Amino acid sequence: MKTISPKIILALFSFVVAFSVSGITYFYSNSVRFSFYAFTISLSTSLVMLFFVNVFIVKKITTLINTVKKFRTQSDDVSLNNEFRSNEMSLLHSEIFAWAEERKNEIERLKKLEVYRKEFLGNVSHELKTPIFNIQGYVLTLLDGGLEDETINRDYLQRAEKSIDRMITIIDDLEAISQLETGELQIEPERFDIVALAKDVIEAQELKATNKGIILTVQNDEKPIFVFADRFRIRQVIVNLIVNSIKYGKQNGETKIRIYDMGDNVSVEVVDNGLGIEDKHLPRLFERFYRVDKSRSREQGGTGLGLAIVKHIIEAHNQTINVMSTVGVGTVFSFTLKKSN
Ligand code: ADP
Repeated sequence: MKTISPKIILALFSFVVAFSVSGITYFYSNSVRFSFYAFTISLSTSLVMLFFVNVFIVKKITTLINTVKKFRTQSDDVSLNNEFRSNEMSLLHSEIFAWAEERKNEIERLKKLEVYRKEFLGNVSHELKTPIFNIQGYVLTLLDGGLEDETINRDYLQRAEKSIDRMITIIDDLEAISQLETGELQIEPERFDIVALAKDVIEAQELKATNKGIILTVQNDEKPIFVFADRFRIRQVIVNLIVNSIKYGKQNGETKIRIYDMGDNVSVEVVDNGLGIEDKHLPRLFERFYRVDKSRSREQGGTGLGLAIVKHIIEAHNQTINVMSTVGVGTVFSFTLKKSN
């Protein structure tokens, strides 16, 4: 509903007062002339007051609205439209209300970020502590005479090197996550054959899989299927999913990559017959540092960041990733990509 401007209400009120005053004057004086003078004086006094109200109050309201608008739009170029001229009070109300709402949302967002930042820092230091303490332990033992002991010196150096590798993996994953989250890392899409890429990843991971007796295959690989995506990043997604299927797969198991042409999109599924994941873990699986079995993940060299990176990459492509799993039966990760003809 359109509200009436206070200026119009005041003007109408001035007329009503002027009519009343002239009516009362006529009643007592019975003179049309006096009554006309009373009307004119009363109306002009009200209109002069209205003029001053306009100059002193409305102008200040204008400045106030301009200031609020400037804060909201973060721009100096603020022009008030006709809506303002017809009803400055309701515009001021809606501007301040919208501004307060935006500030409230902003504060909530910052509070969430603060919680995330604290959690993230805690997780990072916790993850780095283990390899650092391990390295410290090996180095101290070597310094305390272990260096001369042929039975342990090489072994301890190799263990220290393993811990250094682990730290490098954590730092690489952290770097990838922070680049993806700050938008520093831009997706560079190109047209490529996703079937060929899947075969390529499988070839590269074959040795790791064979050590555990796991067979890797690409199904429906008869003809190429072209997608429009960042080849390098999608390779990283498939590698992370395949490596997980090996890490959490069972001895002599199997992992298949299935690729489906869905018209506008292509669906890629990584299916394993490994340990599986309980339903209660599924909603949090893509969170940073979330692990179902912490010690197993660490033992396998996991950082707890792999799936978070995967999700970021897929979302940066404006696509989705899902997981379905049954304990003891296996897990299916499926994501979509934009098809290219
Ligand atoms: P991590 O470095 O620990 O492997 P990820 O983010 O890659 O971290 O995975 C998070 C957790 O999800 C893992 O710790 C593991 O518990 C679970 N997970 C991931 N992939 C699978 C899978 N294919 N089968 C069973 N569990 C899995």
